[in-house]
Amino acid sequence: MERSKRIVFVSHCVLNQNAVVYPLARAKGAYKDIVKELIDSDVGIHQLPCPECSHLGLKRKPMTKDEYDADDYRTLNRNFASDAVKEIKEYLSNDYEIAGIIGINESPTCGIEGEPGIFMEEFELLLKRAGIAVKMIDVPADYHDDTKSAKFIDELRSLLVR
Ligand code: SF4
Repeated sequence: MERSKRIVFVSHCVLNQNAVVYPLARAKGAYKDIVKELIDSDVGIHQLPCPECSHLGLKRKPMTKDEYDADDYRTLNRNFASDAVKEIKEYLSNDYEIAGIIGINESPTCGIEGEPGIFMEEFELLLKRAGIAVKMIDVPADYHDDTKSAKFIDELRSLLVR
């Protein structure tokens, strides 16, 4: 048995920048420096859904949190958050550790620090109600592999350290 029994939950676009709203993609596919760090630390990587893609698809325009914040979008995010909390509970009840949750700073949906996005608001609320404390960090808004990754990669290493 070779399981690390450690899982990190990541916003969908950490692994798939093709889901990002035009013209904000910052990599061709995954954020390679982040993914390399996750792989090297032997955590399992759980990719969260992309609520904006599910709601408005790939041709959506950039929108603010206020513009997204309608009942149907709240419900979609609450349902996604509920699914994610169920998955976390299942891991925890089987003696896994949730090493952290990685969001996307300044996203109207997946931001954690500063103004939280709608999905992360719902996710944090449900985690709190379930009595689950998990470390949460954001990929910075100016993150870019190679050129602007060093500071965040240090922060990520601190998150992943046991
Ligand atoms: S920040 Fe969230 S909603 Fe925006 S592209 Fe990434 S996963 Fe999708």
